[in-house]
Amino acid sequence: MTTHVTIIGAGLGGLTLARVLHVNGIPSTVYEAESSPTARAQGGMLDIHDYNGQLALQAAGLMDEFRGLILEGREATRLLDRDGTVLFEKADDGTGGRPEVQRGELRQLLLDSLPAGTVRWGHKVSGTRALGEGRHEVTFADGSTVVTGLLVGADGAWSRVRPLLSTATPEYTGMSSVETYLFDADTRHPAAAKAVGDGALFALMPGKGLTAHREKGGTLHTYAMLARPQDWFANIDFTDPAAATARITAEFAGWAPELTALITDTDTAPVLRPLNALPAEHRWDRVPGVTLLGDAAHLAAPNGEGANLAMLDGAELGQALAAHPDDLETALTEYERAMFPRSTEAATEGAELYEFMFGATTPHGLLDMFTGEERGE
Ligand SMILES: Cc1cc2nc3c(=O)[nH]c(=O)nc-3n(C[C@H](O)[C@H](O)[C@H](O)COP(=O)(O)OP(=O)(O)OC[C@H]3O[C@@H](n4cnc5c(N)ncnc54)[C@H](O)[C@@H]3O)c2cc1C
Repeated sequence: MTTHVTIIGAGLGGLTLARVLHVNGIPSTVYEAESSPTARAQGGMLDIHDYNGQLALQAAGLMDEFRGLILEGREATRLLDRDGTVLFEKADDGTGGRPEVQRGELRQLLLDSLPAGTVRWGHKVSGTRALGEGRHEVTFADGSTVVTGLLVGADGAWSRVRPLLSTATPEYTGMSSVETYLFDADTRHPAAAKAVGDGALFALMPGKGLTAHREKGGTLHTYAMLARPQDWFANIDFTDPAAATARITAEFAGWAPELTALITDTDTAPVLRPLNALPAEHRWDRVPGVTLLGDAAHLAAPNGEGANLAMLDGAELGQALAAHPDDLETALTEYERAMFPRSTEAATEGAELYEFMFGATTPHGLLDMFTGEERGE
């Protein structure tokens, strides 16, 4: 294959593509807006599934290195009622198929697996333009440009490549999360640490909930989830951490103190994350020389699949290009033919999961899901 692949975005999807291309002898360049690999904290833990994320790592030839990152025991799950009653508890017996790793460590693993210079940091794309015959021009914020015969938008939710293919833009899902961290929790926040347990905690009621994970080093990472319109959040001053913490905590009035401590005792300023999504059936007609992967193609409300799907997209696109080195359009068509229905299915199932988690029947809908039994039977 003579075409050099131009990838926009060094997230997990873009880096997986670059790695799979590399192991197949195909050169690529990844242009990333951030100034360095450490410019931004990479956030949270990810469970990497044996049916998508791990398949991508196999294609990337990185399974052994991946195993070295797994945090043992973190697949444990607890579902608590708002008064702290344990409704469901499952230990991590090592057979769950969804091992947890720190996102930053996984990204670094992929970065380390690429030839030096593959990622060009500090290259924020400001625009893209079709030149005809499958060629595209990419313009960066500093005014420089590149022209490419194969452009892949792996640039996430607000992709600058997407307009070449589709007019769709993400829309607010009606729900936001507010992110907090408790550090060294077993010593400093023992009641909250005990409530979360060894892995993931869910404490839910209709329209709101706390989801928390035990990360590396006794860190508790919490998303306080609230189904509120964006203008409701706009009235909260998140530049005043104490006031914002108090306002969000008020939404959980009457909940057990070991649960509200996940917000009130935060060691970091609470961070608002509005949750946006593209339409579940988002797709486009083939446009020569360009495609999308990951959130750029199928942003969905977080449902535990997004990073996994981005990696699988990257791996499958890389494999399709390796299989059809002289026929880019066949490769892109093959990749999209599998990616579109997979993404739609995941987004649809994700919306159902949100209904279980935050709909009228919660927490018992989720309890039924966890136990696989109908309540009362
Ligand atoms: C709160 C939250 C929790 C989540 N939890 C999970 C989870 O537990 N499991 C899971 O599988 N998924 C989870 N997800 C979803 C997951 O984070 C995304 O689906 C995944 O990161 C998508 O990967 P990506 O490579 O497509 O995009 P991204 O990770 O968004 O990477 C895009 C990259 O492109 C760069 N970029 C953006 N714009 C430009 C530009 N103009 N020019 C150049 N570069 C640019 C960005 O800096 C970034 O590095 C969660 C998401 C959220 C918001």
